[in-house]
Amino acid sequence: MHWEAYHCVESIEEALQLLDEYAGASRVIAGGTDLVIQLKNHQRRVKALVSLSSIKALRYIEQDGETIRIGALSTHNELAKSDLLMEKAKALSLAARAVGSPQIRNIGTVGGNIVNAQPAADTAIALLALGAKAKIVSSTGERVEVLENLFKGIGESSVNPAKEIVTEFIFPAFFRSAFQRLALRKAFTLPIINVAVALLIDQKNICREARIAIGPVSTVPFRAKKAEAILNNEIISEKKLVLAAAEAMREINPRDSLLRGSAMYRRAMVKVLLERALRDAVVVK
Ligand SMILES: Cc1cc2nc3c(=O)[nH]c(=O)nc-3n(C[C@H](O)[C@H](O)[C@H](O)COP(=O)(O)OP(=O)(O)OC[C@H]3O[C@@H](n4cnc5c(N)ncnc54)[C@H](O)[C@@H]3O)c2cc1C
Repeated sequence: MHWEAYHCVESIEEALQLLDEYAGASRVIAGGTDLVIQLKNHQRRVKALVSLSSIKALRYIEQDGETIRIGALSTHNELAKSDLLMEKAKALSLAARAVGSPQIRNIGTVGGNIVNAQPAADTAIALLALGAKAKIVSSTGERVEVLENLFKGIGESSVNPAKEIVTEFIFPAFFRSAFQRLALRKAFTLPIINVAVALLIDQKNICREARIAIGPVSTVPFRAKKAEAILNNEIISEKKLVLAAAEAMREINPRDSLLRGSAMYRRAMVKVLLERALRDAVVVK
């Protein structure tokens, strides 16, 4: 685990300038809960690290009209404690509460969780269901990516932390959402399955938009579009929720895993968890 320099910056501009100076040989670090382990295991090599932790402008959770905006440096704990998220984006609030342990939640950030691109990353599953977009800046400009276009494979995202910084996540405030997670223990453990749903239901009880995300059942956080199609533009009923959950069970492709259980078991659990999540999202509290 060797690097020549560790820079603590206080602004995005300063960070981008340093990344440019190192021309691909440095990398941004946030909480370090993924990256430090990767450096220690020689999975990554860098000449310098550019720490974003002191950039206060990247830590916020706010509503702007019909949109929720979250600074990428917000920690899981900040997400978990936010009353705004519990009210307007319950899936994300519950997902953040499920991450690791208090120590990990205190320093691990939502931006790092997304860029690290694990198929079962808890906040990735929630943000995917919520239809989030990521704002990404570099010295050459800014781009906005729909979250599902960001995930390229296990541990691979389209963001290049040697050049680019994710600054914020943006998603609509109008969804009813929910999150369910199955794991061997309640804390500090990998999810066997995690599921997030976001539903837009009108006054006639018709589902105008359904979004369902499931992990880890593919190489990237997975959207169950066939299950969504069963709910879209239909009157919400218990029968429809059960049908959608059964469809999701068919469209996923989990692997047999020593750590997470057999494919057959995980397929069956997706149906159980998704039914629970859909019921939870439908009920107005
Ligand atoms: C013991 C333990 C338990 C864990 N449990 C869970 C769990 O239950 N659920 C779960 O989902 N995760 C879990 N994690 C994983 C981890 O905590 C999260 O992925 C965390 O959110 C990563 O954020 P970070 O700030 O620590 O990222 P870092 O480790 O600092 O960075 C991760 C990657 O993202 C890049 N990066 C970070 N921020 C940015 C940015 N703003 N812009 C561009 N690139 C960026 C870095 O260069 C690096 O490649 C666990 C980790 C540990 C060590």
